[in-house]
Amino acid sequence: MDKNITEKVPYLAGVIGHPISHSKSPKLHNFWLSKYEINGFYIPFSVTTENLKTSIKSLINLGFNGVNVTIPHKTNVLSIADSVTDRAALIGAANTLYFSRSGKIHADNTDGYGFIQNIIDEIPDYDFYDKVALIYGAGGSARAIASALISNGVKEVGITNRTRSKAQIISENLGAKVSVIDWRTAPETIVKADLIINATSMGMIGQPEFSQPISRAKKTALVVDIVYNPLITELMKEAEKLKLKTVGGIGMLINQAVPGFEHWFQKTPIIDEETRKFIVE
Ligand code: NAP
Repeated sequence: MDKNITEKVPYLAGVIGHPISHSKSPKLHNFWLSKYEINGFYIPFSVTTENLKTSIKSLINLGFNGVNVTIPHKTNVLSIADSVTDRAALIGAANTLYFSRSGKIHADNTDGYGFIQNIIDEIPDYDFYDKVALIYGAGGSARAIASALISNGVKEVGITNRTRSKAQIISENLGAKVSVIDWRTAPETIVKADLIINATSMGMIGQPEFSQPISRAKKTALVVDIVYNPLITELMKEAEKLKLKTVGGIGMLINQAVPGFEHWFQKTPIIDEETRKFIVE
C-alpha cells in the first residue's frame, strides 16, 4: 500500500448490553453526529456476559474510541478495566468506557453527573450546598445520585426503599452522610427534605404509579423525577399542584451522554429543545 495515502478513518463508538434494543443511546449519539456533521458512527452491540471481555477487546482492535455500557454489564466491566474513576469505583458500576490508543480501558460513571447537570440546566442558580435530600429507590441510579449529591455538597441524603436491605447497603458504602429512612415513615420524614427524588421505576409507562404521599413536603422543596417516559409523570403533576418546583428525567438521560460524546467524537454537544424533542419522539 502507498504509505503516503492517509485515510480519514471515522470516529467509532457504541453501546454494549443484553438486551440492547431498548437503549436510547444510539438515537441520541447519531442525532448529534448528524447535527454536527461528524465523520463517525455509534453502534449498538448485543453482548452477553460470556462474551463481554472478548467483545471489548475486538472493539479496541477495530479502532473504537469507547462504548457506553448498559444492563447487565455495568458492574462486571470494572474488573476488566485498566483504570476506574473514583466516582465509578464509589458507585460500583460504570456506564462509559474510554479506550486509549495503547488499548487500555478506562471506566467512568456519568449518571450522577447527568443528574446534577440536569438540575443546573433547569435551575442555573441551584445550590446543593447544605441541602437535605430524600431519595426514593435503592437501585443503580439511586446509588449514583446519592454519591453525586454528596460530592456536590449536600448535607444529608436519606434513602428509602421498598426493600430496606438495598438502601442499607448504599448507606454503608457511601458513609455517614447517607442514612436509611424506613419506607413506611418516609411520608413524615419528607418534611425535612429540600430535594425529593424519585429514583424508583414507579411512574414509568407500564409500571405502577409513584405510591408515596408528598403532601407534607416543604413549600421550597424541589421534586426531581428521573423517570423520563412519560416526560411529565404523575408525581411531577402532583408536585406542581402543591406549587413545588419540578425537574423531569429526560435531561439526565441526555446529560449523562455528554462526556462520552465529547471524548469519542471530539465535540461538546449542546442540549437544546430540539435534542429533547427528538429523543422522546
Ligand atoms: P433498578 O436498579 O432496577 O432499581 C429499581 C428501583 O425501583 C428499586 O429501588 C426498586 O425497589 C424500585 N421499585 C420498582 N418497582 C417498585 C414498586 N412497585 N414500588 C416501590 N419501589 C419499586 O433501576 P434503576 O436503574 O435504578 O432505574 C430506576 C428508574 O430510573 C427506571 O425507571 C429508569 O428508567 C430510570 N432511570 C432514568 C435515568 C435517566 O437518565 N433519566 C437513568 C437511569 C434510570 P426494590 O429494591 O424494592 O425492588
